[in-house]
Amino acid sequence: MSFPLLFSRAHWFGLLLASSLMLLALLWPFFNGQGPAVEATASASVVPLPLVAVRPDAAAPNLVSRAIPDASTGPQQHTIVSGDTLQAIFQHYEISASTLTALMQADEEILALDVLYPGNRLLLDKTADGRLQRLTLELDPGRILHYEQDAEGHFSYAWEPTELDWQARLFRGEISGSFYQSALKAGLSEREAMNIAQILGQQLNFRRDLQAGDKFAVIRGEERNRQTLTGRTRLEAIQLQRGQREYTAFLFSDGNFYDAEGQSLTPAFLRLPSQQPYRISSAFNPARRHPVTGRIAPHNGVDFAMPTGTPVLTTGDGVVTRTGNHPFAGKYIEIEHQGAFKTRYLHLHRILVQRGQQISRGERIALSGNTGRSTGPHLHYELHINGRPVDPMTANIPTASQIPEAQLGDFRDQVEATLAVMTEHANETLVASLFAPREG
Ligand SMILES: [Zn+2]
Repeated sequence: MSFPLLFSRAHWFGLLLASSLMLLALLWPFFNGQGPAVEATASASVVPLPLVAVRPDAAAPNLVSRAIPDASTGPQQHTIVSGDTLQAIFQHYEISASTLTALMQADEEILALDVLYPGNRLLLDKTADGRLQRLTLELDPGRILHYEQDAEGHFSYAWEPTELDWQARLFRGEISGSFYQSALKAGLSEREAMNIAQILGQQLNFRRDLQAGDKFAVIRGEERNRQTLTGRTRLEAIQLQRGQREYTAFLFSDGNFYDAEGQSLTPAFLRLPSQQPYRISSAFNPARRHPVTGRIAPHNGVDFAMPTGTPVLTTGDGVVTRTGNHPFAGKYIEIEHQGAFKTRYLHLHRILVQRGQQISRGERIALSGNTGRSTGPHLHYELHINGRPVDPMTANIPTASQIPEAQLGDFRDQVEATLAVMTEHANETLVASLFAPREG
């Protein structure tokens, strides 16, 4: 169990508060809507506690597993709290170890069950004879994952269809003290403040060059699923006014940041995660027949046949967001890069970086191996753009060039419109999102 790096203390307090409220709701089933119906009264000022009338078998959502013994069938809900493990949860709900293994097998290409975060919700759907038919994992309101069991006991996964879109919010501020402090004061997060310094870091030194009174404006995209914020955000536009000079960065539909002239600000990526090319033993394939199970399942990365102990290099600058040891994927690393890019490295022999660590393109992050379920030593490498796995060998990777000539006109129009929005509105105003990368 590990805590996600990106959540602030306030977020944790919120989660704690939410958990306490849920616990309260549990102990007081009336609030669940699961207690017996209470007749409406003209005045709602006094609500009788239905303590006596509660049936002992009332199916309250099972939010804190230890609090309620429960052996009933049908969907059961479990909200992850700190210290939870999937093994313990399954034991509690009387689901077999072999079912857990079958689930983890399906999870190899998605790595969602390996690290559970407090606040994530599980929905366990059992058959009358107690078999787990379906497991639903709600990561946030926009990311709901279903693992479904077939007649042979194998699981496959599917994302719940969502209607994701983005709203945009403008933040403005003035430097007093450090940029970091000024950004937090304006309402931006710690992570956003660090990202901004990284994106514009090649053009100016944030510690040395900024002075009191310099101004900044930032547009943050906030993801929604049918009007509900999912908690996922991204930087869409940055403007920094230092004396007479202006520094800008705009997110474009390809996931890269560009300055107002259309020159790339996202550092170039390497195509390969190793010093020299290795034979591809299994290509990226959304409908691959699995070499071990013989079943059709997506292969979300590319496999390079490399001997155990080969140095693995990160393909772009970024921050290590996850490391872990998955029963099927083995030891793995996940890195988030600037813009809309993410990479993953699986079946490692040894991990040489830590979660939260900043790393640069070409840096040695691991030694390749054969851990997890693997048919031989190899590196499984994934590249995600805008939250979707793509073929790392053919995808459009950042090359630190410029907006293609054909799109430059549109880009300049968007820059102009965005800069106008950024100067017109007050701090924390909802504005139109002009730089919205396509999803998927
Ligand atoms: Zn692979």
